[in-house]
Amino acid sequence: MKEKLNKVSLILLGVFLIGGICNFGRVYLMSTTGYRITQSLRKKVFTAIVNQETAMFDKRSTGELVGRLSGDAQLVSSAVTTNISDGLRSGIMSVAGVSMMFYMSPELALVGLSTVPPIVGMAVLYGRFIKKISRQVQDSVADLNVIAEERISNIRTVKAFAQESNEIKKYGSKLEDLLKLCYRESYYRGIYFGMTGLSGNVIILSVLYYGGVMVSNSALTVGNLSAFLLYAAYIGVSLGGLSNFYSELNKALGASTRLFELIEREPKIPVQGGRVLKDKLSGNVIFDKVNFAYPTRIESKILNDLSLEVEKCSVTAIVGPSGSGKSTLAALLLRLYDPTGGRVLLDGEDLRELDLPWVKSQIGFVSQEPTLFSSSIRDNIMYGAENSATEIDLMDAARQANILEFTDTMKDGLDTIVGERGVTLSGGQRQRIAIARALIKNPRILILDEATSALDAENERLVQQAVERATQGRTVLTIAHRLSTIKNADKIVVLDHGRVAEKGNYDHLMSLENGLFRNLVKHQTFT
Ligand code: ADP
Repeated sequence: MKEKLNKVSLILLGVFLIGGICNFGRVYLMSTTGYRITQSLRKKVFTAIVNQETAMFDKRSTGELVGRLSGDAQLVSSAVTTNISDGLRSGIMSVAGVSMMFYMSPELALVGLSTVPPIVGMAVLYGRFIKKISRQVQDSVADLNVIAEERISNIRTVKAFAQESNEIKKYGSKLEDLLKLCYRESYYRGIYFGMTGLSGNVIILSVLYYGGVMVSNSALTVGNLSAFLLYAAYIGVSLGGLSNFYSELNKALGASTRLFELIEREPKIPVQGGRVLKDKLSGNVIFDKVNFAYPTRIESKILNDLSLEVEKCSVTAIVGPSGSGKSTLAALLLRLYDPTGGRVLLDGEDLRELDLPWVKSQIGFVSQEPTLFSSSIRDNIMYGAENSATEIDLMDAARQANILEFTDTMKDGLDTIVGERGVTLSGGQRQRIAIARALIKNPRILILDEATSALDAENERLVQQAVERATQGRTVLTIAHRLSTIKNADKIVVLDHGRVAEKGNYDHLMSLENGLFRNLVKHQTFT
């Protein structure tokens, strides 16, 4: 007996060792697979997000998209790895247990397993429900992310208006909503697991009872009943595992629907593809009977059959009352949106047929409120460059944009970190960096959306000087707010209600009796 015990113990030790190694393999492989799936999902989702056309970002908020990128990707990957591996284990355990039960006594097996079909039915119902509720939970989390992202990124405004406690309350109330949903989910989860646990025990109990009767009738030995009970317990445990697997899987299905909606969404404006013009671009821009409404507000027409030519190597100033569509023109030339009717032509070619990266390499853009990235001044300028830009190009652009004036006084010079969105710089400094960023690729066309906010005299002079240098030898479309810019322009185009109301040079427009332009100048309203 001692010898047998030794032998069995040794064999078992071997089996357990192998089991340990296999378990290590299972956990290691599943966990690394999980990380890799998360990584590749995130990459796909990020690519899909960044490639979408601008209009999509008018509808979807940053917080929501970032939430999907981080939370949902994680949820899906854990569901298809850890969860599937646990599910598989429970599945195999169940199959083995059931087979052994049938092998030993089909009659007793049937009695024991009679509770399984109702559980399966219940699990299916519950699965549907959990899918719905987990979608609601994820939407609620997305809502929370939206608030958090927006408020934290605009913390200066929150603080300026002393809205801290209100924002905390708002966030808190959204948290309450989420918690209520979670309570509901937990309640049904509790019922579900209570029932599956109970049914596992019912299997054991019915086997014990019916088996006991069989033993007393000598239809089964006590030894066989004990073994049978062990299998029943085995099945009870794995049933719990399987139900967990099913509920987690449904949760992940809810999350993955949203992720794959994003991944599979075809951007309405392709990121690249199209023709590259062989000849050097001369920079002639024509808006040909352009009609436009923003996709989010399709009912309000912003541009109405607008036709306009921006001649090469000339400065065209766009003026007009606020909301007349000036910035929209710039957005169409950058092909952030496509016109709903008409065409935008670059050297006679429809913008929609040209390769966008090539088009953008020809256009420099300085926006009204330039945003910088939270890296160094150097990196921010290089952001506008093509791969071939050298240190000399960088210094050239910095010099032209009057940047060295302030970086020379900074300890780290061009390597100074600008803080999130450039918060550590003044408005005029940010504008000059934005000008350098636009100039570094030496574009044929320059779009300037002039800042409306007034700068101090010194900054104003430096920015103005940078702008004047930047416009030389280029086709320039400037959305002008300063009288000096307007006076210096070769052509002034006055927009009103999405149409060109007047055009010509300064003297011509001022000579028009009751002209819109004359009125704008009189009241100094170039906003
Ligand atoms: P301007 O530059 O002349 O002040 P814009 O071109 O910025 O005017 O805006 C023209 C109109 O388009 C405004 O009425 C504005 O409310 C609307 N608008 C601007 N951007 C969007 C957008 N992303 N989605 C919807 N409407 C917009």
